[in-house]
Amino acid sequence: MGVLIGQNVPTPGLAFALGVASHFMLDLIPHGDSQLYKNYKDGNAVKKSLIYVAVDSVLAIIIFIYLLETAPYASRGTMVAGVIGGIIPDFLVALGEGMKIRPLLWFQRLHMRIHDAIASRIGNIPLGTGIVMQLAVLAVMVFIVKR
Ligand SMILES: [Zn+2]
Repeated sequence: MGVLIGQNVPTPGLAFALGVASHFMLDLIPHGDSQLYKNYKDGNAVKKSLIYVAVDSVLAIIIFIYLLETAPYASRGTMVAGVIGGIIPDFLVALGEGMKIRPLLWFQRLHMRIHDAIASRIGNIPLGTGIVMQLAVLAVMVFIVKR
């Protein structure tokens, strides 16, 4: 989403800010990963969770490179700024969790409250459904931006 935002805004600062905002908006869409996160936190399925994150990251990098390579060269700076904005909330959560940095632990609670705002009301959805929903949102956004 950060790449798509970066293609459509004039400055890196705006792309970064909208990238951060898009992260929280997309986090609101249930991912079906609540049980995966709980298992990770409880130490039950750490390896499975890390494999999921690794596959997710590799796919994100492939999509990122594709979108970067098919966009006008002039928008590369804003696209990278949008991606950094889109990634930084999760990076700060991981950093806070790993290093036990108090302000980041506060940020993590805020992040998870937003992340689970809808999922906690409608109940957990299966992981596969969450992945399909995320891909559908991405496909709609790519269609809107690329047409
Ligand atoms: Zn997040």
